[in-house]
Amino acid sequence: MRKVRKGISAVVYRSCKAFNHDRTRILDILRKVQTSLGCISGETMEMLAEELSSHRVEIEGLVSFYSFFSEKPKGKITIRLSDDIVDRFAGVDKVAKVFSDELGIGMGQTSSDLNFSLEYTSCIGMSDQAPAALINESVVTKLTPQSARTIVRKLKQNPVTSNLVKKKGDGNNADPLINAPVKNNIRRKGDVLLADRLPAEAGLKKALKMKADAVIQEIGHSGLRGRGGAGYSTGLKWELARKAKAKERYVICNADEGEPGTFKDRVLLTERPDLIFEGMTIAAYAIGGTKGILYLRAEYAYLLPYMESSLKKRRTAGLLGKNITGKKGFAFDIRIQLGAGAYICGEESSLISSCEGLRGEPKTRPPFPVEKGFLGFPTVVNNVETFCCAARILDKGARWFSGIGTDQSTGTKLLSISGDCTRPGIYEVPYGVAVTDVLDMAGADAPAIVQVGGASGDMIGRSSFHRKISYEDLPTGGSFMTFNASRNVLSIVDYFLEFFVHESCGYCTPCRVGNVFLRERIQKIKNGLAEEADLRYLKDLSNTIMMTSRCGLGHTSPKPVLSSIAHFPIVYASLTKERTDGRQASFDIQKALEESRRIAKRQSMIYDPVYGEAAD
Ligand code: SF4
Repeated sequence: MRKVRKGISAVVYRSCKAFNHDRTRILDILRKVQTSLGCISGETMEMLAEELSSHRVEIEGLVSFYSFFSEKPKGKITIRLSDDIVDRFAGVDKVAKVFSDELGIGMGQTSSDLNFSLEYTSCIGMSDQAPAALINESVVTKLTPQSARTIVRKLKQNPVTSNLVKKKGDGNNADPLINAPVKNNIRRKGDVLLADRLPAEAGLKKALKMKADAVIQEIGHSGLRGRGGAGYSTGLKWELARKAKAKERYVICNADEGEPGTFKDRVLLTERPDLIFEGMTIAAYAIGGTKGILYLRAEYAYLLPYMESSLKKRRTAGLLGKNITGKKGFAFDIRIQLGAGAYICGEESSLISSCEGLRGEPKTRPPFPVEKGFLGFPTVVNNVETFCCAARILDKGARWFSGIGTDQSTGTKLLSISGDCTRPGIYEVPYGVAVTDVLDMAGADAPAIVQVGGASGDMIGRSSFHRKISYEDLPTGGSFMTFNASRNVLSIVDYFLEFFVHESCGYCTPCRVGNVFLRERIQKIKNGLAEEADLRYLKDLSNTIMMTSRCGLGHTSPKPVLSSIAHFPIVYASLTKERTDGRQASFDIQKALEESRRIAKRQSMIYDPVYGEAAD
């Protein structure tokens, strides 16, 4: 027993030492411990707390928050099957059954010899090659029951996960540092991001010849807006960060694309790492930043060695470090922060919390990150695609960029297309392209339902296929899922709500509880048990959740409900009965939330006859 304790203690010490006992690097430390010990037990948490001068409750809070950490022992090999709606339609349940039968364990279980764990996980960013899974950090795609059986038999003979599939993917996926069977599936190249032979570092070289203010002006004139979905002006964001008084400023790249059906950043990270780092360096020069962090989602850990090697090459080439490209006084460097499995970390303030070594919970705003972000310093957080666009704008000019797209949505957009189509993959299209044209490009099979923008986006039907992909009409962070008429609208909505119920951080009642209630009511409708009043209930509760939630997750989670009711009224009508007793079921939001408020000892943000006006 003492020997075991000594062993754990040595792992804890080594893991903390590897990151200089830096409390902000605790996610990296926990990851090392989890990999070495297979879990982060209560005893291990005590030791970590002592080593990091923290408290066990803080470590426990992190372990319970991030899905890639576990207090209970996990198998030496963990198989995580991607469970998004596209995986489901592609037959992930049949694949799961084979894994389960071959391993002799159910979903969510670990074998008694601690060799294997099997579980579902949220979308791993491979919807164009579904069903897919992570086996430890390795990716396997296009799974079938047969390939699942072969994989388990191979792993039982030789528990090495890196070469399970001989055939490697295209482009840099075949690089020895990536070595993955993942396909880029680039189907359409535009001029901005995926054009062949982009001139290396041309944007950075031009930027460094300009004054920092002029760089920000150029970005502002281009009309570039954040590609993550919210569409905030990049020039304005940079300007605010530059103007904020501080002795340090940070640049963070959000590479945590967790929106179901989104995988375009994966392709940029694989094929354009230098363009991303170039854009971050330009941002640092513009705002006066000295340090950068690229937050890489845990599901893309297989890209980490390749990304780290790109950073190393940049340091050697004088593109990072001191006096970048000979520019006296300009110093900047970037580190990569690996996430640990939490959709909410895609929200910028949650992502900052996660970089700080905290639970990835949204921060209260104001102050905004451009004033007080990472460790309280002004911070620019932009998406992978946004930084790539910034680098191209500095090379080709604001006028060139704003000449592509529409008035309010300039440039091109990368779409990750998946679902019922013959050519799923990445498409670089000018903003303003019509949905119907996108469907044609992708070879959509009799499209009847299109989900634009992932779980938090809009669900549209045939009558809206003339609409345009743009901030002024149909915005998307990149996800574009097409489904044919054989797919059930209510099953799709139900899946999205299941996703949000799982991913809600639980901080505020309307989101934590409201999404559960929405899902229950959608299931009631799906089962043909609904009345007209249930539709009113869904609309009222959706609006309440959107108005009273604290962050973007709650502001958008009811969108699939509202947009499907708006665009598929016949589907809902066919499943909704009229009451025959002449009475009307009524909806009372206070009553609906009363129980959860009582449990959480919280009050409501909306007027409450019991508590009066209060904030949740
Ligand atoms: Fe957490 Fe949801 Fe509230 Fe956002 S809206 S803070 S995810 S509970």
